[in-house]
Amino acid sequence: MDFDRIKEKLSILADAAKYDVSCSSSGSKRKNTNKGLGDSSGMGICHSYTEDGRCVSLLKILLTNHCIFDCAYCVTRKSNDIKRAAFKVQEVVDLTISFYRRNYIEGLFLSSGIFKDADTTMERLIQVAKKLREEENFNGYIHLKSIPGASDELMREAGLYADRLSVNIEIPTKSGLKLLAPDKNHEDFMKPMKKVKNEIIQYKQESRIIKSTPKYAPAGQSTQMIVGATGESDRDIMYTSNFFYKNYQMRRVYYSGYVPVANDPRLPALGTQVPVLRENRLYQTDWLMRFYGFDVREILNNDYPHLDMEIDPKLSWALRNREHFPVNINRADKSMLLRIPGVGLKSVNKILQARKFRKLNWEHLKKIGIALNRAQYFITCDSRIWEKNDYSSDRLKQIIIQNSASKFRKDTGQLSLFS
Ligand code: SF4
Repeated sequence: MDFDRIKEKLSILADAAKYDVSCSSSGSKRKNTNKGLGDSSGMGICHSYTEDGRCVSLLKILLTNHCIFDCAYCVTRKSNDIKRAAFKVQEVVDLTISFYRRNYIEGLFLSSGIFKDADTTMERLIQVAKKLREEENFNGYIHLKSIPGASDELMREAGLYADRLSVNIEIPTKSGLKLLAPDKNHEDFMKPMKKVKNEIIQYKQESRIIKSTPKYAPAGQSTQMIVGATGESDRDIMYTSNFFYKNYQMRRVYYSGYVPVANDPRLPALGTQVPVLRENRLYQTDWLMRFYGFDVREILNNDYPHLDMEIDPKLSWALRNREHFPVNINRADKSMLLRIPGVGLKSVNKILQARKFRKLNWEHLKKIGIALNRAQYFITCDSRIWEKNDYSSDRLKQIIIQNSASKFRKDTGQLSLFS
């Protein structure tokens, strides 16, 4: 093997893959069988990301950064004058196995530029996964990025080898996609997603009757949207996510702040800041929808198409809906406890547990760990000390901001080690 060439390819194709954040590996339970290598569930696959979106414990590469398309927001686009490279199928297999044996990685995230056509590219990705599973008996985690426009048959095959499949929608609105990726067709994303969804359901149903039914994409499917490349509102983004969660049983939607990679009048100028805070607020909204019982329309609607960047979306909702508060911590049901700013899912469970034995007061709530700097204005508990809460919503927002040691506050630079 020409190690220098492989190293060079690795540096080019790992660098090109860093813009894809959809590589969380949670949810798969592939067990080691046949004295094979690896086990995707029992070894704590890391979900950490570096600041620019790289997942730290998967070998995350493109098969190639040659691409026949010219999506304006993508560093791999054909009109971009960059170094190109392509791995052979066997090279990716060998790299994965040798990295795995050295404990560098816990799995593989494999994506690709589109060379020749969607099916040829998809076939090549599947070959890697198939070789790993069938020839190397590899039971570690595999996430394959599906190629928009790939045939149903290939999507079916891909799910038999991969733990997770993802088709990145990239741009949240149809009009944005048309503007920045005119070669791409909205339907090319939807068709494979639909196929994967149907196969997941079908294989699950069959496995209830026939025990030997193979697993199909056990970690489900995910997608990614680039945020801030076009003028979409937060409402547009989250309504699109909501659509995917509801209709395609999407396991995760990832939000990736646009990193300016092109000098193009259709895009934010080079040097424009990556919208990291917006990305964070979108993830918070996503959690409210998935775990806190919020309907997306409660948070974003025609009156409020944008998230408040100064405060988190739950606090923002509470300030707009003061009539629901104060909530009595000792009597409210779970769904209402979940709506209190500063009270997370774990704290709600602790509250429900603790109040079986006693009425809770401020001290108890502090010990439970709720963020009283926000919660105190929205609750009552077993205490005669009553937090003044007759401020206007605007005033209350300012008070909470002042009292919060937000990591996003502009004046929070890194402290010197020796001061
Ligand atoms: S098809 Fe994919 S890899 Fe090719 S330019 Fe578009 S986003 Fe980039």
